[in-house]
Amino acid sequence: MMIQTARGVRDILPEEAEVWHFLEETAITLFGLYGYQEVRTPLFEKSGLFSRAVGETTDIVEKEMYTFTDRGGESLSLRPEGTASVVRAFLEAGLTRQLPWRVCYRGPMFRYERPQKGRYRQFHQLGCELLGPAGPLADAEQMAMILDYLRRVGLGEGLTLEINSLGCGACRPGYREGLVGYLRSVPGDAGSPLCENCRRRLRENPLRVLDCKLPECRAVAARAPVMRDHLCPPCADHFRGLVAELEGLALPYVLNPLMVRGLDYYTRTAFEVTTTRLGAQNAVAAGGRYDSLVAQLGGPEVPAIGFAMGLERLALLLAESPRAAAAPAAYVVAVGEAAELLGARVAASLRGAGLRVVADLMGGSMKSQMKRADRSGAPVTLILGEEEAAKGQVMVKNMAARTQRILAWEEVLPYLDTPSVRGG
Ligand code: ATP
Ligand code: MG
Repeated sequence: MMIQTARGVRDILPEEAEVWHFLEETAITLFGLYGYQEVRTPLFEKSGLFSRAVGETTDIVEKEMYTFTDRGGESLSLRPEGTASVVRAFLEAGLTRQLPWRVCYRGPMFRYERPQKGRYRQFHQLGCELLGPAGPLADAEQMAMILDYLRRVGLGEGLTLEINSLGCGACRPGYREGLVGYLRSVPGDAGSPLCENCRRRLRENPLRVLDCKLPECRAVAARAPVMRDHLCPPCADHFRGLVAELEGLALPYVLNPLMVRGLDYYTRTAFEVTTTRLGAQNAVAAGGRYDSLVAQLGGPEVPAIGFAMGLERLALLLAESPRAAAAPAAYVVAVGEAAELLGARVAASLRGAGLRVVADLMGGSMKSQMKRADRSGAPVTLILGEEEAAKGQVMVKNMAARTQRILAWEEVLPYLDTPSVRGG
């Protein structure tokens, strides 16, 4: 019996990895234009970081973390998200006077979820955090950047930017009380009409009831009081400012009063970018403001906003529009020891000039090697037999034109560099 991957994790095979490189490199470059620099934090942290930042009663901390005790008796968790680590790193490096601080990150996150299309137990996020600015212009700049990015990678179609406000420590508790009152008062056939999960949330995390996906809960949520009607004056100002900025930037948005995020640290602005093309897993990017988190993790009051995109979901969307796999510039076929050696030297000189050159190295007959050369998609095959090797020559075959010529091995690079050959 072969051992297979654990449930909910997957391999990114080379063809898909090309897509991932493209998504990641484009992101790092574009975010760089907005002033974001990459930060890399550990894949695991002390468990207390996440329970303190993400929240003790969130789904993530309560039932989705990969938590273990290491050999020294310390409780550690694989990171379920990136923001807590970034803020910890910011504080640990003593950067609180270096505001504004803009960083981006990419890498695997781990959550024990029910695996399905677009939902995995190891998944990958590309995210950004902006620490310092308190005003809505920062929120709008991030949203504009995300949409800019999604357009650049060819995913600009069919997206919706959804925004909401979650209030703050001053206005949310009052709203929360009103919401609980409403949710408890809704009659059902046998007590509450809410699902079992939401009846538990009602006690611990009532806002989460609003974004339950089950129809019975949605019906109740649709008539619930909304946070936006209960914002304190500063939160209401912030939200009005955000709407004005988005309109000023001509960014279309939709108000979604039922969007609450699954992490406790969010304050004021929450947003998601959703697509109609991924079924139930419709969020490709999600984020929001977290003005209290830095203080909550032991630092000074530093307002902040951030977001993360799911790479698997972006790759799924891109897979619908296939990209040409990058073929090598040349494929080397050689029969006999002397030919193989000369082939290796020619390949090395071409790579030195920045060309991608693949050597067969499988041995066997010229015919079998030529089959693989064909399959590689390389426009040119460099063929070396005993005879060529003895003279220091290479037979250069143009695969599309089916023509070939003999060149001294030093002439191969200038030949490959001629426009007619480079052009395919
Ligand atoms: P969802 O509502 O889809 O569960 P979430 O609110 O848990 O998302 P965040 O924690 O804000 O999501 O993560 C940001 C983004 O990361 C999501 O919008 C999504 O694209 C991606 N993501 C989150 N969880 C997973 C997962 N288990 N598998 C794949 N991608 C994920
Ligand atoms: Mg989730």
